[in-house]
Amino acid sequence: MSIDNVLLGFHGAARTVTGSRYLLHACGQRTGIDAGIFQGYRSLRRLNWREPPYPAHTVDRILLTHAHIDHIGFLPRLVRNGFKGPILCTDASAELVRLLLMDSAKIQEEDARHANKYRYSKHSPALPLYSSQDAKATLKQLEVIDPNGWVDVGPRLRARWTGAGHILGSCSIEIEITANRGNTGTIVFSGDIGRYDMPLHPDPQPRPESQVLVCESTYGGRNHDLDVSVDDQMATAISRCLERRGTVLIPAFAVGRSQQLTFILRRLMLEGRIPQARVHIDSPMAVNATGIYGRHMDEHHLDADVFEDGRQVLFPDDVELHKTAKHSKELNRMRGPRIIISASGMLTAGRVLHHLKRLVGDRKNLVVLAGYQAPGTRGRAILEGQRTVRIHGQDLAVRAECVSLHGLSAHAGQSELMRWAASCETKPRQTFLTHGEPEAAWALAHKMERELGWNVDLPELDQTLDITDALGLG
Ligand SMILES: [Zn+2]
Repeated sequence: MSIDNVLLGFHGAARTVTGSRYLLHACGQRTGIDAGIFQGYRSLRRLNWREPPYPAHTVDRILLTHAHIDHIGFLPRLVRNGFKGPILCTDASAELVRLLLMDSAKIQEEDARHANKYRYSKHSPALPLYSSQDAKATLKQLEVIDPNGWVDVGPRLRARWTGAGHILGSCSIEIEITANRGNTGTIVFSGDIGRYDMPLHPDPQPRPESQVLVCESTYGGRNHDLDVSVDDQMATAISRCLERRGTVLIPAFAVGRSQQLTFILRRLMLEGRIPQARVHIDSPMAVNATGIYGRHMDEHHLDADVFEDGRQVLFPDDVELHKTAKHSKELNRMRGPRIIISASGMLTAGRVLHHLKRLVGDRKNLVVLAGYQAPGTRGRAILEGQRTVRIHGQDLAVRAECVSLHGLSAHAGQSELMRWAASCETKPRQTFLTHGEPEAAWALAHKMERELGWNVDLPELDQTLDITDALGLG
């Protein structure tokens, strides 16, 4: 193997959805693409604690596709372990990274404190995966790229970011490698691919041409086909609740989902499909994220549908933002028809629990589950019709109406992934599917092989493959 061989290491999101982390060894340099944490089951979360199979100080730079925590949450750990290079991303992603990493560090610190208090950790004292200090140091390494063309990222390496329509600032990344003889090869990392024709976020841009493609496969096994549109689902349930003078509680992820919901609520009120009611956004993260969305509303970042006569229309007319805990508590005294959007989205923690405690026992009220509910969460328990729910050590009867919205996912379904794959005429010589459970990834792999004639593989965790030939650089 010569020094000019190009190697690609898959250090996360291999046959699973979280922990996106790739390492490209090319032109004598190490370029990381995303650095996410593993989430979900304990066996996965444990992977966050292993030392990566490469020393952090040997990584020259990291390029980010987007700011979700399963793509950026490992950065402070790498910085803590000696990574000193630049972290390159779009301007909107940089703002979201700042917000999300500081929050993630706080969660790591709280988890460690909690483990020490109840002594359930094997380690004494339990340490956080990283601290707020590490997160702050990480933010200093952020560098905003120019999204309008190629960016020189290192000797004989350049990269280009193209919109992926998944969340604000999300992109696919194309990396062009120039070999010693002057010939070039290109690899594309899809990042997370968004949906077509959705409110708020623009459609994914066509797939950039490349010899090698690393593509997500979260919903590789199924489509988001809907019998009833999201607007109709929301209008029916919410108007029913407001008309009986109940309160609507929507647990929602702070970034992307909350903004999509306020945007749809505004439209439904304007169309007279739901009664006018005050909307409360009760989550400092969601309020901050909404501010970031509001600052990046040019055509580059958000869909044209968020503008009316040049004015942004992210919010209904009557909206109240609750940032401080004191302001949040005022909601406890407010009665009558209103809509509260609060985090976390799966009812696992956060302010939403206080509202749930107060509202779940009354038949007038409505809980709207607006996203995926993982097994083991309160959201899942309610979704499955459990009659009681345990909050802060108290068992409470579930009497409020509960509905689950379908179709708001930020991830392309199978047919949309295929549409994106086919949006460039040139076939990649080699495609790797990542960021999906094996069943979903295999389903997409077979479809790509059968319908597009592609050559597709599913790498395993920590597998490092020689892609020199596939890039045409052999
Ligand atoms: Zn994502």
